[in-house]
Amino acid sequence: MSSSSAEIILGIDLGTTFSAMAYVDRFGKPNIIPNADGHATTPSAVYFYDEDACVVGEEAIKMTVVEPGQVSRFVKRAMGEDRYELVFYGRSYTPQELSAFILRKLREDAEEALGQRIRRAVITVPAYFNAAQRAATAAAGEIAGLEVLSILNEPTAAAIHLAMDRLGEERHRMMVFDLGGGTFDVTLMEIRGLELITIASDGNAELGGKDWDDRLVNYVAEAFSEQHGLDPRDDPQPYQELYERCLQAKIALSRQTRAAIPVSYRGRRAVIKVTRERFDALCEDLIQQCEDTCILALDKSGMAWSDLDEILLVGGSTRMPMVREMLTRSSGFSRFREVNPDEAVALGASLVAVFRHQPGHPALASFRREVLSRAGRDPADLSTELVQLDDRYLRAGAAVGLPPMAIRDVNSHPLGVIVLDRADRERVVTLIPASSPLPCERRSRFAYAYDNMTAVRVTVTEGAGRSRDEVAVIGEVVLDKLPPRPRGTPIEVVYRYTADQILEVDILDVQTGASRRARIDLSGGLDERRMIRAQEVVQRAQMR
Ligand code: ADP
Ligand code: MG
Repeated sequence: MSSSSAEIILGIDLGTTFSAMAYVDRFGKPNIIPNADGHATTPSAVYFYDEDACVVGEEAIKMTVVEPGQVSRFVKRAMGEDRYELVFYGRSYTPQELSAFILRKLREDAEEALGQRIRRAVITVPAYFNAAQRAATAAAGEIAGLEVLSILNEPTAAAIHLAMDRLGEERHRMMVFDLGGGTFDVTLMEIRGLELITIASDGNAELGGKDWDDRLVNYVAEAFSEQHGLDPRDDPQPYQELYERCLQAKIALSRQTRAAIPVSYRGRRAVIKVTRERFDALCEDLIQQCEDTCILALDKSGMAWSDLDEILLVGGSTRMPMVREMLTRSSGFSRFREVNPDEAVALGASLVAVFRHQPGHPALASFRREVLSRAGRDPADLSTELVQLDDRYLRAGAAVGLPPMAIRDVNSHPLGVIVLDRADRERVVTLIPASSPLPCERRSRFAYAYDNMTAVRVTVTEGAGRSRDEVAVIGEVVLDKLPPRPRGTPIEVVYRYTADQILEVDILDVQTGASRRARIDLSGGLDERRMIRAQEVVQRAQMR
C-alpha cells in the first residue's frame, strides 16, 4: 500500500455518548484534534431541524431538552441491527447513516483544524462487537466519505496508547476496564517484550453510564411523585429535563458526597437530595455486573486478580468512586493507571493508523529508537541492535520499516458452520472458538450427508450456541458442479481469520481438488445502491 507520509489518517473513537479523534504528528506524538467548538470530545448526538438538515454534537444535546423527538442518541447500541430505523421529517435513517453524520462532522472539523482534506481513518469498536456491528461501523465511515483502513478494538487502542512507554518490558499484564456511556468492555492484555497481546476480552453491550443515569432518574422521579402525586417521566420534555439534571448530579457525585436535584413539573417543585451512599446503593447490582464480567474474563484465561500488574481505566464512567472501590476491593490495587479516559482510545487508534498503514511515516524511526533505548539497548547503534531483537519482529520490521512492536488481537465470538448430524438434524459446529489469537486458521473434515450430491454449501455462523436460532448466519459459500458420489465423501473446510478481522472461507473437495474461496463480506450489509443513496443523503445534508 502506498501512502504519503504527509497524509493524515484519523484515529476515531466513535463512542455511544461521546466521540473523539486524533492524529500522529510528524514527531510521533499522538494529538487529540479539537472539534469546531474547541472541545476534545463531541457528543454522539444528531439533531434534525429540517428535511436533510441536521447538527451534530453539543448543539444537538441542547436540543434534546426542547425537541427530544428530533434527536438521535446512543445509536451505537443499534449498530448492526437490520430493522432499526429512525424517522425525521419523513425520512428514515439507518444506524449506519446516523453514525455517518457524526463521522462527517468529525471529518469536517478535523479538516478545518488541520487545514487539509482527510480521506482515511481507523475507527474503533467495542471488543465484543460482532461481524455485523463491525461491518455497520465500517459502512458508516464510507458513507461519511472516509476510507476505513481498519476497525480496531477500543481496549486494544487504549492499551496501545498506554503501552507505548511499557513496550520492551519482559512481561506486563494489564486489565483494560472500559465503562463508557452505553457499553462495558473488559480486556486482559499482556506486553511481552515488543508484542502487545490480547489474552481475553468480555463485555456487556447493554451496560454503561446511561444505566446509572436511569437509576438516578427513577429514584428522583419516584421521590417527586411521592410528594406531589405526579410523575415527570410521563412527559417527554420534562423527562429530558429531569434526565439532564440527574446526569449532572451523577457527575457531581463523583467529586462530592451529596447532590441536590431540583425538579419542577406541572407547576410543582421539589428539591430531591441524594447522597453518594444512596447513589451507590441504587447501583449496587450494576457494579456487581461489572465485577462478574471481570471475573469471567480472568477465569477464561486461567488468571486471578493477583496475576495483574496493573489496571487501566478507560471510559468516562470509571470516574465514579464506586467503580474504583469495587476494583480495589477485588484486586487489591489502590491505584489505577488513568489516561484521560476521553482521549485514550482515539489516541491509540491514531497510533495504529501509523503503525499499520503508514510505513513511511517519519515518526516511526523515533518510536523504534525510543523503545530500543527503553529495552536497555543502545539506540546509537540501531542496526546492530536490530539483529539482536526477536527474529519475528526483525523480519516484519526490516521488511517494511514497521516500529518494533506487534499487535495481536483475539476474536470475540465463536465462528462455526451448520451441518447435519447423524439423525439429519441441523447443528452448529464451532471451527474457531472465541478468544483465539489472530490471525488463525482452522481446518475441518466433513462428509456428504446424502448420495449423489453435486454441490456443498457452507453456512458460516457467528455466536455461541448449537442451533441455527442461537447464532447469526454471516455468510455462505457454495462449491458446485461436483461429480455425483456416495454419502460419506470427504469435504474439507478451512476458516482463516486474518489480523484485520476478515474471515476467509475455503471449501475443498478432497478427492478432485476442486475448491471455492469466499471472503465474508464486511461492506456492512448495504448493497451498492443503498450505499450510494446513503452517501448522497449524508454528504449532501446541510449541517449546521
Ligand atoms: P462512550 O465511549 O460510550 O461514548 P465515554 O467513555 O465517553 O463513553 O463515557 C461517557 C460516560 O461517562 C457518560 O455516561 C458520562 O455521563 C460518564 N461520565 C463522564 N464523566 C463522568 C464523571 N465525572 N462521573 C461519572 N460519570 C461520568
Ligand atoms: Mg468510549
